[in-house]
Amino acid sequence: MDYYSSQINKLIEELGRLPGIGSKSAQRLAFHIINMPEDQVERLSSTITEAKKNVRYCKVCQTLTDKEVCPICSSEKRNQKVIMVVENTRDLAAYEKTGKFDGVYHVLHGAISPMLGIGPADIKLKELMTRLQGDVEEVIIATNSSLEGEATAMYISKLIKPAGIKVSRIASGVPVGGDLEYIDEVTLLRALDGRVEL
Ligand code: ZN
Repeated sequence: MDYYSSQINKLIEELGRLPGIGSKSAQRLAFHIINMPEDQVERLSSTITEAKKNVRYCKVCQTLTDKEVCPICSSEKRNQKVIMVVENTRDLAAYEKTGKFDGVYHVLHGAISPMLGIGPADIKLKELMTRLQGDVEEVIIATNSSLEGEATAMYISKLIKPAGIKVSRIASGVPVGGDLEYIDEVTLLRALDGRVEL
């Protein structure tokens, strides 16, 4: 039934396409937006458009950034010889928040999942292998402890080890199925410090 004007319906429909937004939340957000001052709505919509236009993958680590090379990869303070492999930019942010990791990252943008039909070619693995041709001492695999994360870790370690580079996996302090971004800093640091060589 058409309770609302078609413009509101359209807004509800678009918001409802976002992950984690059910129809009730979509309605709530739509009415909130309608009631917002016009300049605030304009700021929101232009921020979305600009972000979409300017955010891209870092040429080196593949994280999302608005520069060609992200600030972490271009920092002289970071140890470029230690690469931590994470599944996504949110996981990178979780480790960055601890402020205790001085290496660099590699963002896979996913994990291998035969069940979902996601293979090695569907994540940023080729880019990682290219980086490893440079001067790298250690690769720390910090994929999630989900089935997919573990499978990805195994796959990567098998791929890298013949190159003679040290490969380690963060300790099992990270709960199974737990996304790194929801884990507190202490647990994250313990997982990093207690990493085991594969
Ligand atoms: Zn980068």
